[in-house]
Amino acid sequence: MKEINIHTSLQFIKGIGKNRAKILSDEFGLRNCYDIINFFPFRYIDKTKFYKVRDLVENSSYVQIIGFFKSLKYVESNKKFRLEGLFFDGEKDIKVLWFKGLKWVEKSINNKQKVVLFGKVNWFKNSPSMIHPEIEQLNQSNEKKRIRIKPIYKSSEKTTNSGMSNNFFIKLIERILKDLESNIRESLNEDINKRNNLMSKYSSYLNVHFPSDFNLQKRAIFRLKFEEIFFNQLIFHLKKNKIKSKRSFCFPKIDLKFNSFYRNNLNFELTSSQKNVLKEIRNDFRNGKQMTRLLQGDVGSGKTIVSLMAMLIAIDNGYQCCLVAPTEILANQHFDSFNQYLNGLNLNIELLTGSTKRSKRVILFDDLKKGVLNILIGTHAIFEKNVIFKNLGFAVIDEQHRFGVKQRAEIWKKNNPSPHILIMTATPIPRTLTMSIYGDLDISIINELPPGRKKIKTLHLKDSKRLRVFKFIKDQINAGRQVYIVYPLIEESKKMDLKNLEDGFESICRYFNNENYSIGVLHGKMKSENKDFEMNRFVKGETNILVSTTVIEVGVNVPNASVMVIENAERFGLSQLHQLRGRVGRGEYDSHCILMTKDKMSPDAETRINAMVSTNDGFRISEIDLKLRGPGDILGTKQSGVVDFKIADLTNDLKIFDLAKKEVEKLINSDQKLNHSNNKTIRQELVEFYNNKSWSSIG
Ligand code: ADP
Ligand code: MG
Repeated sequence: MKEINIHTSLQFIKGIGKNRAKILSDEFGLRNCYDIINFFPFRYIDKTKFYKVRDLVENSSYVQIIGFFKSLKYVESNKKFRLEGLFFDGEKDIKVLWFKGLKWVEKSINNKQKVVLFGKVNWFKNSPSMIHPEIEQLNQSNEKKRIRIKPIYKSSEKTTNSGMSNNFFIKLIERILKDLESNIRESLNEDINKRNNLMSKYSSYLNVHFPSDFNLQKRAIFRLKFEEIFFNQLIFHLKKNKIKSKRSFCFPKIDLKFNSFYRNNLNFELTSSQKNVLKEIRNDFRNGKQMTRLLQGDVGSGKTIVSLMAMLIAIDNGYQCCLVAPTEILANQHFDSFNQYLNGLNLNIELLTGSTKRSKRVILFDDLKKGVLNILIGTHAIFEKNVIFKNLGFAVIDEQHRFGVKQRAEIWKKNNPSPHILIMTATPIPRTLTMSIYGDLDISIINELPPGRKKIKTLHLKDSKRLRVFKFIKDQINAGRQVYIVYPLIEESKKMDLKNLEDGFESICRYFNNENYSIGVLHGKMKSENKDFEMNRFVKGETNILVSTTVIEVGVNVPNASVMVIENAERFGLSQLHQLRGRVGRGEYDSHCILMTKDKMSPDAETRINAMVSTNDGFRISEIDLKLRGPGDILGTKQSGVVDFKIADLTNDLKIFDLAKKEVEKLINSDQKLNHSNNKTIRQELVEFYNNKSWSSIG
């Protein structure tokens, strides 16, 4: 027989052939031997335990029992025959039934011989029975071969119809693993294996598919996960080193603008987190290498001011800066607040969004090219090709997870060498996600809120308590505060949602208007200038209540607003709820977030609401969110493909991520180029399995 190796295409494997190979590829993306041994069981049937008939309970599902058949007889009902056996475990009987293949069953059963019965327990009139159980002989030579823990593989209509049953997969994988024994080599080095108590790679494959006990299966899974995460992190590290070796502008000095801002404009003390991040950025700016840094911090932790001060350093060194925001509202708001913060510094700041007029653009583009503009703030309009800077030195991308990863590259193209980049996320994301999608970036974290910020109290109220809420709102407004009331608006139920918003708006008006409160309304369907108008009225304190959809979700900053009421809160996602809550508690006032829901909710919705009530910590919230939704949904479809692990689990494997990452760092520190003979296997593995995907496409 032709020898196979790990890359052998499945169509050449005995028992598969062209047709089945195509089905395996179409259905599960399995193309070669490597794929198939990495086609892990999604569950196991536990045949390690034996049951006694007297211990069976209503909900025992699959069980196995040792014993023998006392009797076997044909029974006729409705002109059909069935076979009924009485199986005796030494103490008690259980009835066993067959409806098909009776002759064959009758022949294969040898009365009085000890066998193992395996099957699902049925209950009929309080007594257990089994239908068509598996029967295994129990003798010495058989004992060794018995599969005690049976792997169950994914199947589809097509695989089943073409004869690829679960047993087919078991036999196939068993055989391939055997043939590959000398082919599957250790891929990590011995020290790493030892330090982390890793099972050998080959044993791991055996024990994932055919474990003899669940402890071994656990260790096998651990090893395979460790390895997968290790290489994921290693590749990120190599990419990162490559990015870091790219030269970029050096901003050695801190000068007039920065100092004058620090002395005259900054009217609060930076938190120590903010200072640290600024230091990290400053170091990056000085070393002549290109910075690509991710700044994570909870809503309201003060990321913007950090990015602004970093810009001043770039400007002091003669370069231009830009800030890209995910929405027009946010771009506008950044533009306004930058103008305020930088008042008196004599800087030229401009705004570029989809609704910037043509005539204005002409002048703007000209100023940009001439270098008259210092800071350009805008939406993704900034990415467009005709936006040409004289010398862009530093770009800030706000709330990155709304953008695709590709857009980082767009900014790189805006100058040569590429400018420094700071990416700021709107809300924290769990550490496993950060590591697995931003592993090639340097990470900065702001993990404290500015001092004196009042805590936000989160309440959950049922719809029936609405009048109480209205009364509370009144008190707050009378005390000088402002209030958001947010309605859900999702594409699928847009019409009804808009109607709800309108109805809500009307009833709010009815309740508040006759006492001269002023109320604004804001939603995505409005024209951009109307949106701005309404938003500005609220920012200036001219409206007391802003009734809105989630267009205000991201970033909007009105420190005087102290109440956030979220209608139909059960319909919002967790990170969205947290974002919305972050719109209040931004000033010196005690703030409230009130989650209104109907009486009955789904269990998931209840978990979300409870999470909101119990914690204000965005990092904590993001972890709960990950558990509820999984990584794909958190990142959105655009980026979910990035986290494409075969076996590692971003929700539960943080510990393994940490261990693997530590080993990667150790490795790179001691042998950056992987030249050492100890690390030959690691290098080989990279070349053999990750070459096309990553080594070469770096940058
Ligand atoms: P986010 O991290 O959500 O982008 P912002 O940068 O919008 O937060 O900051 C929220 C508010 O906190 C702003 O009004 C900002 O001026 C203020 N702020 C930022 N840093 C501090 C600080 N160290 N002390 C007091 N207020 C601060
Ligand atoms: Mg922000």
